Parts: sequence; structure tokens; C-alpha cells
Amino acid sequence: GERGVYNFAAGPATLPLAVLQKAQAELVDYRGSGMSIMEMSHRGKEFDAAIKKAEADLRTLLSVPDTHEVLFLQGGASTQFSAVPLNLCASPASPADYLVSGSWSDKAFKEAKKFSAASLAWSGKDGKYTALPPPAAIAQNPDAAFLHICSNETIHGVEFKDYPVPANKHALLVADMSSNFCSKPVDVSKFGVIYAGAQKNVGPSGVTIAIVRRDLLGKAQPNTPVMLDYKTHADNASLYNTPPCFAIYICGLVFEDLLAQGGLAEVERKNQHKAGVLYDAIDASAGYFVCPVEKPVRSLMNVPFTMAKGADLEKKFIAEAAKENMLQLKGHRSVGGVRASIYNAMPLSGVEKLVAFMKDFQARNP
Ligand code: PMP
Repeated sequence: GERGVYNFAAGPATLPLAVLQKAQAELVDYRGSGMSIMEMSHRGKEFDAAIKKAEADLRTLLSVPDTHEVLFLQGGASTQFSAVPLNLCASPASPADYLVSGSWSDKAFKEAKKFSAASLAWSGKDGKYTALPPPAAIAQNPDAAFLHICSNETIHGVEFKDYPVPANKHALLVADMSSNFCSKPVDVSKFGVIYAGAQKNVGPSGVTIAIVRRDLLGKAQPNTPVMLDYKTHADNASLYNTPPCFAIYICGLVFEDLLAQGGLAEVERKNQHKAGVLYDAIDASAGYFVCPVEKPVRSLMNVPFTMAKGADLEKKFIAEAAKENMLQLKGHRSVGGVRASIYNAMPLSGVEKLVAFMKDFQARNP
């Protein structure tokens, strides 16, 4: 790659070189201020302009309607596992529906049980998280406060292509979009809450973005910590306390870069092409490489695969790939195997190099 390596990490993950170079050029003296943006007051004019521009550009990218707030939060997507039920369920006795399609939605479900009467609308566990349910198989409770999904399971590589229609009385769908945020256009109006840790597609770790329908604000459970109440952050334009200024600034640079690429429709087109090249190579390997995920729900972002000849050969594959400067291909410790995360900032050349290596490796290790 442009930096000598291709980084296939699942997150924190590769960022566009142009963004890093811009941040580097502005690091010591931010736009003539004589200070770095990380040294400035979060209430000063420079940061105020940066966070407003970041929000405006994100709104443009995702066509976020005026009905929804954009919040820049902390605590990672994991904190949202608690914040969602605390904000959307009237009490810990209120029902909520969770669709569990992998490790992340399972974590969200387990946390939600502390703050709601969360129930399992569907689980992919028996199928080792390789599929998603047809709409009729989702056991929805009409009294549920919301239906929660993970739009892309980072570990298992399962991605919703269409979203389930919530059958609860508020028609509320909530999505953890951490690992496919800003990878394609999304109809935000269909969601009550979208949340995403930034560190896969849009920036460094430290900032979590939440997009929240305004009519849901101000209804949090009475014991909700002030920092977890969406209203706190909505009322204060994400400046209730000191925000992760540097991370928000970098996200702003990424949003500018995505807009300059032509927006999310163009980004999706590139992502489809990249993922297609990799899945085609796996499927054309005569069973040497195996992606267990059902074809219609294969992720464009995280491509997990195993090797039919076993874990020792997988180890060798990962080690040899690293020697050829293709890094971080090890599957998540919970599932093993290989995983290539190919977020927005992974160039096509990285996927092509990986595919060429796979063919060569197979020829050398029949
Ligand atoms: N949800 C998904 C889909 C994720 O991939 C991750 C992180 N890998 C998380 C939640 C947890 O995010 P964080 O580390 O920001 O808390």
C-alpha cells in the first residue's frame, strides 16, 4: 500500500492516508492558531467550527433528517448497550426485543437485561452466527419498546442488507452500526437510534456517534446517569462535558474525504466491488478457503474465512501474509480462522494483493 503495508484490522482500523497527512500537517499549529486542536478549549471558536462542520458533513453524507439529533459521545459502542434501554424503556420492567446475530448483539442483549425486560426475538447461535432470519422468524413483542439489531457483526461477518420492520407499537428500530457505519447509504428515518463506535470506518477510538430521533429524548429512566442520558448531550450540542476533541476532529476529516469521494453511494459501490473480489476468490478455491456465512448476508466489511486443511495451516497463512505486509488477518480470538476487515479505507489494491497471495499460498500448500 501507500504506506508499505495493508492493515486488515477489525478496529481500530486503517484510515485514509490523506486524512492522516492532513492531521499531521495541522497537528502542531492548527490553522494558524499556534496550538494543536487537542490543546484548545472545547468551547473556543476553532473547535466549535470543527464539531459543527463534522456534524453538518455527517448529516449530508447520511441525509440525516431534521427529526434526528447527531450526538458525539464517549464510552464506546459498549456504553450504548446500557444507554439504549435506559433511554428508551420506561422502567427495568419494560419489554424490548433483541435480535442476536453474533457476539456484539449478544453483548447488547445481555446488558439490556439489567435495564429492561429484554427478550430474545431471534438467535443465530445454533447456526454459529452464519445467517439472518426471514422477517416471519423474528418473534416480535408488540409491547416492546424497540427492536435492537446489529447491522453488521464484526466478528462473524453477517450483515443486514434489508432491515427488519419493527412490529412494536412505537415502530422503533435501533441499530448498532459500529462496523458498517458510513459504508453505504442508510435511510436514517427508519431508525429510532443508530449508534457506532468511530474506530472502524470513520475515525479513531474515543468517540461514539449516536443518531437519535428527537421525540425519544427526555424519557430516560429516573436513575439514568447524566452522561448516559441522550437529552444531556442533545441539549448541549455534545458539549455537556469535555468531548473527545481530537477524535471528533479526525472524524470530520474522514467525513470530508467521504464526501469528496462522491458520497456514500459511491463508497458503497467501491465496497461491493472489493468484497466481491475477495468472496469470489474464496468461493473459487474449490473448498480450500471456506466462508461459512450464507451468501445473501455476507458482510462487505468483515470477511471471516477458515481453511479446510486446519488451524495450523491458517497460522502459517497469517504469518506468511504478515511477512508480505498484509497485517492483522487473524480471526477474532473467540472464533479463530482468518478475518480480513476491508473497511472504506482499504484500497482495492489491498484486496487484490490478498487474493493473489491466497492463490499462491494454495498452489504452494496443496
Ligand atoms: N458493536 C460492534 C458491532 C463492534 O464491532 C464493537 C467493537 N468491535 C462494539 C460494538 C464495541 O465497541 P467499543 O469497543 O467501541 O465499545
